[in-house]
Amino acid sequence: MPGGWAGSSRRRRLPGNWEQLRAAAHRRNPAHICHVCGRPGGDQLDHKVRGDDHRLENLDWIHTNVPPYCHRYKSSREGNAAKKRVSIKRPKEQHPGMGS
Ligand SMILES: [Zn+2]
Repeated sequence: MPGGWAGSSRRRRLPGNWEQLRAAAHRRNPAHICHVCGRPGGDQLDHKVRGDDHRLENLDWIHTNVPPYCHRYKSSREGNAAKKRVSIKRPKEQHPGMGS
């Protein structure tokens, strides 16, 4: 199925029956209990064990774009490929000639 994937570098090597797996995972876990924090409301289906195991047993929900962003922590543990944060420290302006 081409189209609609542009700009999403996160999705890779998903199986062709992904939508079916999603639906099955939803039926199995309608509250979308997150497999990382154990709370409901996971917005994305995630591989519990990273790799090519796309069986339903290896898939469960996770908080990705909603708090507490469990996927972010998981990813940062596995590699910093998605790390893009740059902390900008604003230097304090000095006024050497201050004081009159
Ligand atoms: Zn979670």
